[in-house]
Amino acid sequence: MASESCDVCERSVRIAGGIGDLWNFAFESTQGLTLELTDGSEFFLCFDCMERLPEDREPTAEDVSDLRDRTDPVEEDGNAFWHWG
Ligand SMILES: [Zn+2]
Repeated sequence: MASESCDVCERSVRIAGGIGDLWNFAFESTQGLTLELTDGSEFFLCFDCMERLPEDREPTAEDVSDLRDRTDPVEEDGNAFWHWG
């Protein structure tokens, strides 16, 4: 297991550790994924933010940065861990 920060809300998100985890753990423990855009850029987004991207077309880097502008960084609830990993 590993974790990565969402590029939009900055929440730290658990991700499956590797390709071997994919089928066993992908839906249980992965809370985000890397979005590859058609222009070749990549962003790591949690599912919450992913759902807020436009669904009627391919999202662009501008959509991601728009969404980031509209999103306040999430404060970890309770037992905060800072910059995990
Ligand atoms: Zn997010």
